[in-house]
Amino acid sequence: MINSKAEILQILNSTPKEAESYFKKAAEIRNNTIGNGVYLRGLIEISNICRKDCLYCGIRKSNSFNQTFTLTDEEILYSARWAYEHNLGSVVLQGGERCDKEYTLRIEKLIKEIKQLSRGNLGITLSLGEQEYDTYLRWFESGAHRYLLRIESSNEELYKKIHPKNSLHAFKTRLNCLESLQKIGYQTGSGVMIELPFQTKEDLANDLLFLKSINIDMVGMGPYLEHEHTPLFEYRDLIPSLQERLELGLRMVAALRLLIPDINIAATTALQAIDPFGREKAVATGANVMMPNIGPAFGRKNYNLYQNKPYSDEGAKEVLRKLQKSVEQHGGEIKLDKWGDSRHYFSRTNK
Ligand code: SAH
Repeated sequence: MINSKAEILQILNSTPKEAESYFKKAAEIRNNTIGNGVYLRGLIEISNICRKDCLYCGIRKSNSFNQTFTLTDEEILYSARWAYEHNLGSVVLQGGERCDKEYTLRIEKLIKEIKQLSRGNLGITLSLGEQEYDTYLRWFESGAHRYLLRIESSNEELYKKIHPKNSLHAFKTRLNCLESLQKIGYQTGSGVMIELPFQTKEDLANDLLFLKSINIDMVGMGPYLEHEHTPLFEYRDLIPSLQERLELGLRMVAALRLLIPDINIAATTALQAIDPFGREKAVATGANVMMPNIGPAFGRKNYNLYQNKPYSDEGAKEVLRKLQKSVEQHGGEIKLDKWGDSRHYFSRTNK
C-alpha cells in the first residue's frame, strides 16, 4: 500500500521497467484484497442530448455537429433484457444531462421496469449527471444502487478552465452532488480525465488523494481524448501522444489500487479507444470492472457513435467468450451473474 503524494508521483513518473513492478504489485494487492474477479456492467447510452456545455465533451449543447438521438423505452428495455439474458449481472444507464420532470419520471419508470424484467436480479448503475437531491432519492428508491459522477478534475482552477464559467457548471455543485449520492446510500463512483490541457502530474496525484479523502467506492478514469468540435481542441498541442496518455492512464490505475485497495476500479473505454487491449492492460494493473457497450445490439439507424456489431445470439456469446479469454490472459477472471459491488462501500457504511 501507499499513502503519500510523493509515492503516487513516483509511480506516475516511473520508467517503463519500474512501472511493470508497480503494475504487478497493484494486481497482487487487488487479488489479495478483493480477488481477481472482473465484473461486467452492460453500458446503455440512452441519449446524447445534454443541457451542459463542457469544453471537452463531444455531446456538449453547443456542438451543432452532434446528431442527437434518444433511445426509446423499448430499445433501453431490450438492451437491459439482453444484458440479463447474457448474464452480465448489471447495467449502466448513461447519458447527457437532462433534469426536466418528464425526463426524471421516465428514468424512474425505466429503473422499475428493468428491475421487474430481471426479477430484481440486474444491478443498476446510473451515470446521468448532476440532479436535484430529490431526483437522486427517487431513482435510488426505484432500484438504482450505484451512481457515477466524475469530478473530472479535483483542482478547482483546472475545473473552471475546462467548463464554461456559469452557475450550471459549478465545481461546488459537483461536490454537493457527490455528497448527496453518498448520503442517500448509493455506492458512489467518481473519477477524472487524464492528460487534460493545463493538467500536471501533481494535479493527478492530488486527484487520487481527493478520491480517497471523499471515501469514494468506485472510480472510472480515462485519458482525455480531444474532440474536433469542442473548444478545448484548440489546446491539443499541449497534450502528449496517445501512447503516453495510455501509459499514464495505467500508472494512475496502479497508483489508485495501491492507495485504496478495496474499491472498484473500471477499465475504461477511453483506454480501449487508444489500444484494443487497453482495458485488459488496466485489469493487469489493478482494475476489476468492465463496461462493454451493449447499445449497438438494437441498431441505431441514424446515429453511429460506435461501430454497429451484429449482435445475434451467437455473435454476443462470441464477444463474451473473447473478452473472457483476453481478461484471463491479463490475470483477471470474468464473473458472470454478479453485481460485483464495491467492498469499500460495505466497510464505509458498516453493512
Ligand atoms: N452526462 C453524464 C455522463 C456522460 S459523460 C455526466 O456528466 O456524468 C461521461 C464522462 O465522459 C465524463 O464524466 C467525462 O469524464 C468523459 N469525457 C467526456 N468528454 C471526454 C473526452 N473528450 N475525452 C475523454 N473523456 C471524456
